[in-house]
Amino acid sequence: MFFRNCKKTTDDNDLPMPQPLTQHELEAYLDEALPVDAMARVERALRDDPKLAQQLIAINGRRDAGVHSLGEIWRRHRLSCPSRDQLGSFLLNVLSEDVAGFIQFHLDVSGCRTCAANLHDLKSQQSDEPAVVDNRRKKYFQSSAGHLRRR
Ligand SMILES: [Zn+2]
Repeated sequence: MFFRNCKKTTDDNDLPMPQPLTQHELEAYLDEALPVDAMARVERALRDDPKLAQQLIAINGRRDAGVHSLGEIWRRHRLSCPSRDQLGSFLLNVLSEDVAGFIQFHLDVSGCRTCAANLHDLKSQQSDEPAVVDNRRKKYFQSSAGHLRRR
C-alpha cells in the first residue's frame, strides 16, 4: 500500500517540459485548426525534430498521395508567412533568435517562394540605398566643385 503513494501525481504535468505532440495535434496542424499558440508550438517542434516532420509528411501522405515534402505541404497551405515588416527586420538582424530561426526555417526548409521573392525585393531595396546616397554625394561634390571653379 505504501508504494501507491509513490505513483506519479498530476503535479508532474506542471513541469515546464514540452509535452510530446500527439497525432491529433499534428493532424489539426495540417488543417490549420489549432489556436495560434499551438500552431507556433508545433512549428517550433518541427524545427527542432526532423522525425516529427517525417511524421507530418506521413500523415499528409496518407491523406493525399503525391505530396512528398514538408516544403510542399507548406506551400500548399501557405502556413505562417512572416509579414513584410518581419522580413525586413530579419534582413537587418534585429529579430529575436526565435523569430529569426523560424523565418530561416520557413525560407530554407519550407522553401516558401512568396517570402523568398519578398526577401529578394527587400534586399534589392536595401542595397539600392547606399547607391542613391552615393549619387547624391557625388552630385553635391560636383556642384560645389563647380561653384568653387566659378569663383
Ligand atoms: Zn512564406
